[in-house]
Amino acid sequence: MHTLASYIKGTFQTGSGTGQPLVNPATEEVIATTSVEGLDLAGALTFARQQGGAALAELSFAQRGELLATVAARLYDVRDELLDIAMANGGNTRSDAKFDVDGASATFAAYAEMAKTLGDAPYLLDGDNIQIGRSPRLAGRHIYVPRQGVALLINAFNFPAWGFAEKAACAWLAGMPVMVKPATSSAWVTAAMVRAIADALPPGMLSLVCGSAHQLPAMLNYGDVCAFTGSAQTGHTLGQLPNVAERLVRLNVEADSLNAAVLGDDVTPGDDTYDMFVRQVSREITQKSGQKCTAVRRIFAPAAVMDQLQEDLCERLSQVVYGDPSLEGVRMGPVSTAQQLRDVNAGLSTLAAETTTALGGDGSNARRQHPDKGYFVPPTLLRAKGAGERVHTLEVFGPVATLLDSGADAAATSALLARGRGSLVCALYSDDRKWVSNMIRGVAPHHGRVVLGSKKIADSAPAPGMVLPALLHGGPGRAGDGQELGGLRGLALYCQRVAVQGARPILDKLLTK
Ligand code: NAP
Repeated sequence: MHTLASYIKGTFQTGSGTGQPLVNPATEEVIATTSVEGLDLAGALTFARQQGGAALAELSFAQRGELLATVAARLYDVRDELLDIAMANGGNTRSDAKFDVDGASATFAAYAEMAKTLGDAPYLLDGDNIQIGRSPRLAGRHIYVPRQGVALLINAFNFPAWGFAEKAACAWLAGMPVMVKPATSSAWVTAAMVRAIADALPPGMLSLVCGSAHQLPAMLNYGDVCAFTGSAQTGHTLGQLPNVAERLVRLNVEADSLNAAVLGDDVTPGDDTYDMFVRQVSREITQKSGQKCTAVRRIFAPAAVMDQLQEDLCERLSQVVYGDPSLEGVRMGPVSTAQQLRDVNAGLSTLAAETTTALGGDGSNARRQHPDKGYFVPPTLLRAKGAGERVHTLEVFGPVATLLDSGADAAATSALLARGRGSLVCALYSDDRKWVSNMIRGVAPHHGRVVLGSKKIADSAPAPGMVLPALLHGGPGRAGDGQELGGLRGLALYCQRVAVQGARPILDKLLTK
């Protein structure tokens, strides 16, 4: 049995007691344990703030970027080990595991490249000098400086590699030390990543807490940041902590989302854009067994093509072999935990009141090693009986999506989409520019990212669930109202923006690159 260690105060340490089990969700076998009992978490936070903060302050952006490049290279060296762990601990297929693990290396590498553009600049600049009085000698300029605390990165179970990378890359480049707390159920991947990179980094720059240290956010203080990804419910709990409510600690929340894909009126079955839609929506439902914050949950299409679309999606989805990812030919794994399976089944029961099932089942067709083991859900396609209520507010975090009539026009479709009350991504598939333009105006206020699918990029564009380091990740409202990535914009979470004003020649000397 493997015991996961935390990495605090520059050493690997294991907690006492029996700890919490980590399970292979395809076999229900306990494969590791971890515990935080008896660990000096307060001391670990102080060590990170003092030692890690000081070490990073000594480094230029370019030097921090070199560390990010080293991290990316080290992760690449242990790629196969990470993929194996992700398959065993997360129920990932190898392809799902690559999506997470390679996404992590790519994100570190992307920020290493961005660091080169900042060079040895002492500050991150935000815009140019602004004349602030009659005299051109008086000017002001905005700069970003790192917050002088520790960034606590709390991650969800579904992306133990990428979730760590997308936060840590920005925090480190900004100049903040990091303490990462992965979700306990899938922490092994993050733990293996930390093993691989820890000795390449200055002391205190990285700490890891493996296990349900739910007390950590309350231990944060002025200058610290809590970057959280997980359920809206936990995000809400964190938002009510006194240190967060009093604004001593900055909290960023990335939470649930009712992402959508919308087929335009102009698209007919057989078109390249239609085929793109069917291909990408199917992928969004099955990739990582639908356990992606960006996965499509609501599929909007005109009534005229709905029957055909349902048939085409069902045909494609029913070909996906699901089961234990270690078995030959399996293309979709289980959901991650017994609790996830209970939540998905409860969600399906709730949605049954307002949908019919076009494709689904009880998971008994899963390919598995043990007949009664594993947390399996088949690809599931629902169809709304009407405009729907819960289908716009209940995130069923598994391989599940619902077909909905998109309504009379762009305004009606946008109004339906807005019922999600804030989502991460909305994908529009059409070659009609007027419709797309109307839709962008209608849906943009309710989403962090709008993806345009069209025939010219039908074969080359990534599916909408792929998050890119260069583009914003986060959505308004129920999605948490957080903002991550977006290139160098991602550093802002870990920085204080400051206006500096004075004599222009002095500003020019002090604040330019
Ligand atoms: P979760 O139960 O909220 O847990 C997320 C993290 O918070 C875990 O590390 C968990 O630790 C920790 N945690 C739970 N309760 C806590 C508390 N009271 N105080 C401090 N920490 C606490 O969410 P999940 O089930 O792992 O993730 C699924 C959800 O994440 C889905 O709703 C999905 O949409 C969302 N998600 C969103 C994004 C995004 O970018 N918007 C990305 C991925 C996932 P333990 O595991 O140790 O309990």
